[in-house]
Amino acid sequence: MSSAGALLDVRALTKHFPVHAGIFGRTTGYVHAVDDVSFTVIRGETLSVVGESGCGKSTVGRAILRLTPPTAGEVWLGAQRIDNMHASELRPLRRRMQVVFQDPFSSLNPRMRVREILAEPLTNFGLARGASEIDDRVAALLDKVRLPREAMHRYPHEFSGGQRQRIGIARALAPQPDLIVCDEPVSALDVSVKAQIINLLSQLQDELGLTLLFISHDLAIVEHLTHRVAVMYLGKIVELADRRALFAQAHHPYTRALLSAVPVPDPLAKRQRMILAGDVPSPIEPPSGCRFHTRCPFVFDRCRKEEPLLRVVAERHLSACHLGEAN
Ligand code: SF4
Repeated sequence: MSSAGALLDVRALTKHFPVHAGIFGRTTGYVHAVDDVSFTVIRGETLSVVGESGCGKSTVGRAILRLTPPTAGEVWLGAQRIDNMHASELRPLRRRMQVVFQDPFSSLNPRMRVREILAEPLTNFGLARGASEIDDRVAALLDKVRLPREAMHRYPHEFSGGQRQRIGIARALAPQPDLIVCDEPVSALDVSVKAQIINLLSQLQDELGLTLLFISHDLAIVEHLTHRVAVMYLGKIVELADRRALFAQAHHPYTRALLSAVPVPDPLAKRQRMILAGDVPSPIEPPSGCRFHTRCPFVFDRCRKEEPLLRVVAERHLSACHLGEAN
C-alpha cells in the first residue's frame, strides 16, 4: 500500500543506465542516474525536484511516468503500484498522469491545429464526444490557460514560445489528471515569459487544486510556486524540506551553495555567494562516502568513507550530511 494520504509515493527508486563499449557493445559500467530516491506527494501539493544538469531529476520524472523503466524501487499512484504494471494495465492510468515538457517547440505536433491537439486526449480517454462538446471543452481549456478561443484554429508555429507552453499546459490539463509532471517547463523561455508561465501554474494550482511534480535546475524559479523542495545531487536526494524552511534555513552545504546564487529581492539583504570548486563527478563512478565530498567546503574525514543518510534535522526537514550529526 502507498503511504497514508499520499497521491504519489516513490520508494527507493533507482535507475542505472548501462554503458556499452567496443564493437560487441559489452557493458563496461553503469550510469547511476538515480539511486535510492524516496518521497511522497500529497494531493494538491507541489513538490519541486531541483539540482544541476545531470543530477537525475528528469530521470526521476520519466521513471514515475514509466517513460523509462526503473531498475529498482516502487512507484505508487494512490493505492496502485505502477512501476511493475504491464503496458495494457498502464493505459487507463495514463489519463491520471500528464506531463508538461521542457521544449514547447518540439512537444506540439506542427501539423495539428490547436483544436486537434487538445481534442486528442479528450477523445482518447472518452472525455468528450461530438464536435460541439469537443469545441466547448477546447474553448474552456484555452480560457484556463488565458489564450483567446480563436487560438484553436491556428497551428503551433503561429504562437510564441510562452503561448506554446500554455498550449502544452492546456493539453496536460485536458484529461483532468491527478498528477502533472512539469519537466523544466520554463527553462527554454525568456526571463519575462518564464515569470508569466510560473504565475499561470500558480493560479491554476489555486483554482484547480493541481498536484504537481515540478522539475527544475533553478531554485529561484520554484520559490513562489512550490510547497516542498527535494534537492538532488548525483542521483541522490540530499535535502527535502518545506519551501520556507529550505529557503530560510537550508542545512545541506550543496543546497546552501545553490541558494547563494539565488538573487534576493531586498537590495540591502545579501546572501554570501558560495562558489563550489570543481565539476560534478562522473555518475558512472560516483565518489565514495558522501557524493558531494569532492566539492564540499566543509568536507572532513568521515565524509570520504561513510555515506550520510537522509535524517531529520528539524520538523519536516531531512538532510543527508554528517555536519551536526552525533558521532
Ligand atoms: Fe559536506 Fe561531509 Fe556534509 Fe557531505 S557529509 S555535505 S562532504 S560536510
